[in-house]
Amino acid sequence: MEPAIIVHGGAWSIPDFLVEPNIKAIRRAVERGYEILNSGGSALDAVEEAVVIMEDDPSLDAGYGSFPNEEGLVEMDAIIVDGRTLKFGSVASVKRVRNPIRLARLVMERTENHMFVSEGAEKLAESFGLDLVDPQSLISEFALRVVRDSGTVGAVAIDSRGNMAAATSTGGIIRKKSGRVGDSPLIGCGAFADNLIGAASATGKGEPIMRVMLSRLAVDFLARAPPEEAAKMALEVMLKRTGGRGGIILINSRGDVGFAHTTKRMAVAYAKDGEVKALVSELPPAEH
Ligand code: ASP
Repeated sequence: MEPAIIVHGGAWSIPDFLVEPNIKAIRRAVERGYEILNSGGSALDAVEEAVVIMEDDPSLDAGYGSFPNEEGLVEMDAIIVDGRTLKFGSVASVKRVRNPIRLARLVMERTENHMFVSEGAEKLAESFGLDLVDPQSLISEFALRVVRDSGTVGAVAIDSRGNMAAATSTGGIIRKKSGRVGDSPLIGCGAFADNLIGAASATGKGEPIMRVMLSRLAVDFLARAPPEEAAKMALEVMLKRTGGRGGIILINSRGDVGFAHTTKRMAVAYAKDGEVKALVSELPPAEH
């Protein structure tokens, strides 16, 4: 099976000053994930490492560079999903973990549970040997220049054995209320993966995404439509039923990739059949 990977750096009104830095970051992320897949690595490793690169990048709203909440602190959420077993690991409201996606993977693989929040999640991180960092050290100059909106990063991949995985990580909405958790760490909302059909990672304001369980909805559509179409169908349901806008990346069990967004812009990169593409997609004004 030919491996493939698609990543996103968020669907929102990405300001001009972030376009080039975002493209650079998502290109590096997709290249790293693709390299792992091409050397026989798993889809889980590919999405985790791709997301770590995006979490470490100051221009993207996840890990270092997360948008601060109303108290000026970052509160991050992340999820990773294994399409082979349907198992997942997720964390919410963590403030002192530089790479929440690594903690999500440890939750999935080293605990009997699927989701941990806040201090409990941080205690677990320490017990797994992850360093806890000063929350202020996660705030980047780029994040301080953003005045409204939200971002998120995500990746979905299929490896040479046909296994699929999805991962999503976010700092959430800028100046969100302390304790607010969006869709990103919730299974079927921020991400979903099932080897039998496909995998998804979603972005956009979390509340509407939760109401339609966007990632699960899009994967259901994948059973009967190619990825780009399935992505559009799911976003249309969300827009019609809730008025919410967002973006989603998808991959199906044949390794076809696709994405769509109803926001002004979306940062997306994908790699397949030896080619890599990274862009900020933009909708004409009438469509967002
Ligand atoms: N979905 C994220 C949240 O609501 C934000 C985003 O994807 O832009 O926390």
